Amino acid sequence: MKPLPINATCVGMCPQCNKGLVFQYDVAYTCEQECGLSIDQTIRGIELSPEDIRGLLRGEYAKKYNFKREKDGRMYAGFLYLDQSFKLQFKQMKSVV
Ligand SMILES: [Zn+2]
Repeated sequence: MKPLPINATCVGMCPQCNKGLVFQYDVAYTCEQECGLSIDQTIRGIELSPEDIRGLLRGEYAKKYNFKREKDGRMYAGFLYLDQSFKLQFKQMKSVV
């Protein structure tokens, strides 16, 4: 039995199965059809808002984030997006913040 969503507001249509709606379950946003779509609520310390998830599900880049790269300790800007297998990816910008 799948647990109930912790937030009853749907954040969008599932782009993977095109049948289910996506809700927030505990630590991830997943598809009610259990097709395997799962977007973690927090990535690299960045918490995704329902608005961010809405954008991601529509195939848009989520808002820009700044993050510290461990290799050199410098700040970089990046965007989050869903790739073709609907996995969350981080696109790093070339420029340093
Ligand atoms: Zn689905």
